[in-house]
Order: sequence, then C-alpha cells, then structure tokens
Amino acid sequence: HLSKLPNIETTIFTVMSGLANKHQAINLSQGFPNFKSDQKLIDLVSKAMNSGFNQYALMPGNMELREAISKKFDLLYGNSYHPETEITITAGATQAIYDVITAFIRAEDEVIIFKPAYDCYEPSVLINGGKPVSIQLESPNYQVNWEEMKQKITSKTKMIIVNTPHNPSGTILSKTDMLQLQEITKNTNIIVLSDEVYEHMVFDDEKHQSACLFPDLKSRSFIVASFGKTFHNTGWKTGYCCAPKELMEEFRKIHQFNVFSVNHPVQKGLADYMQDPNTYLELSGFFQEKRDLFLSLIKDSKFKFKPSQGTYFQVLDYSGITQENDVDFAKRLTIENGLASIPLSVFNENKLDNKVLRFCFAKTDETLKKAADILNKI
Ligand code: PMP
Ligand code: GLN
Repeated sequence: HLSKLPNIETTIFTVMSGLANKHQAINLSQGFPNFKSDQKLIDLVSKAMNSGFNQYALMPGNMELREAISKKFDLLYGNSYHPETEITITAGATQAIYDVITAFIRAEDEVIIFKPAYDCYEPSVLINGGKPVSIQLESPNYQVNWEEMKQKITSKTKMIIVNTPHNPSGTILSKTDMLQLQEITKNTNIIVLSDEVYEHMVFDDEKHQSACLFPDLKSRSFIVASFGKTFHNTGWKTGYCCAPKELMEEFRKIHQFNVFSVNHPVQKGLADYMQDPNTYLELSGFFQEKRDLFLSLIKDSKFKFKPSQGTYFQVLDYSGITQENDVDFAKRLTIENGLASIPLSVFNENKLDNKVLRFCFAKTDETLKKAADILNKI
C-alpha cells in the first residue's frame, strides 16, 4: 500500500466550498470573511514590498513582528513570550500545528483530541505514527468532562490538543476548565497544544482564557494563532506559535526544514499594523454584532441554537426539520436552497450525527440577510 494516510479524504471545506461555487450558493461553509480587510493593512504590506522586504525573513520570523506579538501578550494577558527565543512566525496556524506535533510525537505516542475537532489535528498525528485518542463532546453544550479525560491519560500520552474558542461548536473553555487542565497535567511530561486562533472573537463580555494565563500550564504549552483569522486575510496564510524556550527550540528544528521562513512583506506589514492595539481589540465587538444580527434574523425559524460564545461560527440544530443525515442535508441545502454550511459529523468520533450544521457569520450584513431569508423558509 503506497498511501500513508489511506483513510484521509478531501476536507469538508474543499467539498462544501466547491459545491457552493458550482451551484452559486451563498457560502457560509468554509470559514473566511467575504469583506476586505482594513485598507491600512493592505497599504502597509504594499509599502513593505516597495521598500525591500522581499527576501527571506529570519528563520523564526521578522523581529518587529515577533516584538509586536510579545507586546500583545503583555497587554492582553500581562504575560509575555520572549521575541528572540519563544515566538516563531508560521505559514498559518496549520503549519504551526503540524510542526508542534511532528517535533514531539513518535510512533505509538498517544494524543488526546476532543471531538468535534478541527480537521488538521488527527492526520498530523497519524503521519507521525502517533495514536489519536478521542473524547467526544456532547451537543449542544460541548462541555469537557475532565474526569473522563483524566481516565484517558496513560503512560503513552504525550500531548493534549485543546481549542478555545472552539471550532466548530462556538463554545469557549472557562477559567475552571483551564485550571482543571493545568491540575491534571501537573508533574507530567504531557505537552499541551492550545489552538487559540479565535482568541480575538469572544462574546458577551467573557474573557479568552489563554493557556499562557496559567503559569504551570504555560510551562508545557504551545499556543498557536492565525493572522488570517484575526485580520480577515485567510489567504495570506500567516500565523505564529509561542512556547517556553526549551520547547520552542525543538519546534524550530522542524520549522527550519519544513518551511524555513514565511512571507516577509506580509510579516513586516503586520508588524507595523499591530502597533495600534485597537486593530485586534475591536474584533470581538465587531463579530458579536454579526452574530446578533444573524441570530435575530433567524429567531423564528425552525432551527434551534445556543448563541455562539466565540469564533465566527454559529451551529444550528435542524432536528426539528428533518432526520436526514447532516452531510446529505448540508448538500441538499446548497444545491436546492442555495446556502452552503458545514455538517458537524465530519469532525466527530465515528461521524456521530447530532443533526447540527455550522454557519460562518464573517460575512457582510447583506449576505447574512440573504442567508437568513433562506433559513426562514425551511
Ligand atoms: N485551527 C482552527 C481551529 C481553525 O479554525 C483554523 C482555520 N483557520 C486553523 C487552525 C488554521 O488556521 P490557518 O488558516 O492560519 O492555517
Ligand atoms: N478554518 C477554516 C474553517 O474552519 C477552514 C480552513 C480550510 O479550509 N482548511 O472553516
């Protein structure tokens, strides 16, 4: 058998966006904004290109950008990473995740993953010979049962992957959750991979509970982030990862031979842009308005929901409408009704189908209104 990943299929994002394009449906499936990012940021990247930032950046990333990230951690969490040794710029969060896993996971090592899970975690574990150990979270609350997680830890557990705010469910981990995670992993060699790409999209005055806020947890954690998500440019594929020095040294051994360094002018533009903290501080309010608009428009529809607590996704339960399988229903909605979404079962253990679809609300108000009109007619 030639394939190292015989069971891996084309991602649902490619499938649903492809179907949306084919049928000219409104695309609330794959998570990306349909509006332009700040012109100021685009101008700063052009300026960087015009002023010569066109050759390789330093292997761990442009220093000004690493300094800006370090300052951001100070400002938001009163807690910093050293730009020289503890921050690395990556080709999106995806590459950071792959490199963290590749740097530490050996054959037979176990990695705990909560389901529904973002789709790049498991293949990255498998390609390294590791064993994903799944914990299924239940719709509609997606609460972690930490006692259950504790029981899944064995002498082979090498890593735990957490994601808050959580894609696809739109839930967040609380301070109590993070304290439990810290307590359970205390005095172990387990590495925590904390996917925080939606850190600037947390609603209703809740606070993002970054792994770096808990000192003992921080000492064994990698935090990954994505500028694509934060600044509405998913196509730029630029992100970063932070960890204590000793862990970051191992990460960079992989990073330097996987990609070496990433898009320099984009890094320089982002560094200049981030000098104004409002560029990221205003995001939660901006997306909360989008969420509220979307939910107010569909409040009388047959879909059931709990308002998303974070991310730019809203899950809707359609069990009051049909018992159809969620993949079939999502495809039918796209083809027959002109609205694309993401079925949650593809992220679940054994494709568990709770009759839930995910809709991306990072869209213009006009698009959200058109989408709501469709949902209200179903
Ligand atoms: N993690 C999660 C939870 C995501 O939703 C995404 C998609 N943005 C990523 C990682 C990957 O981010 P990037 O596009 O920066 O690679
Ligand atoms: N993160 C995006 C989402 O959840 C998709 C990224 C991708 O297409 N791989 O929709």
